[in-house]
Amino acid sequence: MNQFFDFFSRLLDTSDWPPRWHCGKWTEFHGWLYIISDLLVWSAYFAIPFIIIRFISRRHDAQFIRLYFLFAAFILACGATHFFDAVTFWFPVYRINALVRAITGIISWVTVFYLIKVLPIANSLRTAHELEEEVEQRKKAESKFRNFLERVPDSIIVVNDDGLIQLVNAKTVTMFGYDREEMIGHHIERLLPERYGSLHPFRRFKTYPGPQSTEVAEGFELFAMRKDGQEFPVELTLSPMETEEGPMLTASIRDVSEKKQLEKVIRDTNITLERKVKQRTEELERKNKELEQFAYVASHDMQEPLRTTASFVDLLRKQYKGKLDENADKYLDYIVQSSDRMKILIRDLLDYSRLGREKEKRQVDCNSIIEQVKADLNRVIRESQAEIRSGKLPLLDGFPTELKLLFQNLVSNSIKFRRPGIPPTVAINASRCNGAWQFSVTDNGIGIESQYQEKIFVIFQRLHNRTDYEGSGIGLAHCKKIVELHGGQIWVESIPGEGSTFHFTISEIQ
Ligand code: ADP
Repeated sequence: MNQFFDFFSRLLDTSDWPPRWHCGKWTEFHGWLYIISDLLVWSAYFAIPFIIIRFISRRHDAQFIRLYFLFAAFILACGATHFFDAVTFWFPVYRINALVRAITGIISWVTVFYLIKVLPIANSLRTAHELEEEVEQRKKAESKFRNFLERVPDSIIVVNDDGLIQLVNAKTVTMFGYDREEMIGHHIERLLPERYGSLHPFRRFKTYPGPQSTEVAEGFELFAMRKDGQEFPVELTLSPMETEEGPMLTASIRDVSEKKQLEKVIRDTNITLERKVKQRTEELERKNKELEQFAYVASHDMQEPLRTTASFVDLLRKQYKGKLDENADKYLDYIVQSSDRMKILIRDLLDYSRLGREKEKRQVDCNSIIEQVKADLNRVIRESQAEIRSGKLPLLDGFPTELKLLFQNLVSNSIKFRRPGIPPTVAINASRCNGAWQFSVTDNGIGIESQYQEKIFVIFQRLHNRTDYEGSGIGLAHCKKIVELHGGQIWVESIPGEGSTFHFTISEIQ
């Protein structure tokens, strides 16, 4: 410890040694060779750190700065040892010399350790050649990107976080009528109508969802404005991206003027069509009403004269039977029969025009309707030995009288148009189908040829002689009208000689 303090307290003390010239036998040449070489090494080692520091101060991108400084210090210290070696030829400052060497040793090892640490990092750095190649590749990629950008059929605009335009493609120039220079560096609001103020998607997107987000916002519909002030509709897609120059927004803008025009044409056509359909429907409904009214009035008013004719013919027949010749009696019979038929026809027509006059709908249990129908047709059922089966039928909102007539017509037809010698069977079922109840009434009767399967629903259409099967041909017309009153449809499937199934639907929402 004493030596340590002694060493530092006598750092500049040269009294313990003679100058180096006097140690040993130096020739002039040997001594000066030593001294001059040392000084040359020192001066060079002194210059190198300055060159290094000057280099670093000019290269702001220089890496491993600490290593440069350590290296400069190391060289400087090495140079100092040589300097003091030369000095000791005259001034034996061996203590300072030792101290400088100690400092040099420490700096050398710090440099060694630091070198070991940074060498792997330095090794991983790309060589100049690699860097050149990368630059070349980047240039190619950029030119590809530019080419692509210029050919995109939509306008592409890149704006920075302040809304200033950074990049536009060729389509933007043609779409907006500005030169590139007139857009680059200007605010995006230059391309939008003033009335948007700051309430346009570029601003809104800035705060929500925010340019830091990677979310793409599609389908903004707004108006853009050309250089000449003309506005046009566009569809806008915004996608944020992070770049070295900060957050940016890429806007892809599509001119949808044609699409909008087409949509307008379609909309207008639809409106016109709807109006026409409505007009026609109203016209049809009016005509239907008029016809119904006419049928009602005509049939109602015809009843009276017909009744008078029938009663006088009846009187005539009763009072003059046998008093006139044979032909006259026959003719009177014909008149009576015809006027009876006429009465039935008029009554049916009147019934037909009255259908649906009952305005109130009520809840109807189809099962109990079938029971009533069976009771009403009891005599016919017994005589024909008919078997009537029905599945579980629904409760419906409907017109009770009309619904009963519907089932009654179908069931009585099934019995009426039975095959001779075969007891009729009738099966009534229902199932739910597309928001409606679909009913089926199936029989094992004579069936209907396919060419008549639509015709039979027309009023007074019959396929048989009155002598074969009695009836006026209005039953199925009634059925059709009733089903339509309930928002449904009726049709038949049949195999002649095997039987028929009448299907009809009753809509649940009418
Ligand atoms: P009508 O029973 O008074 O003749 P409809 O309008 O009820 O009148 O029937 C029209 C025609 O459809 C009938 O004349 C008959 O030819 C045919 N038809 C109706 N129902 C059946 C059935 N279940 N089987 C075979 N034919 C039928």
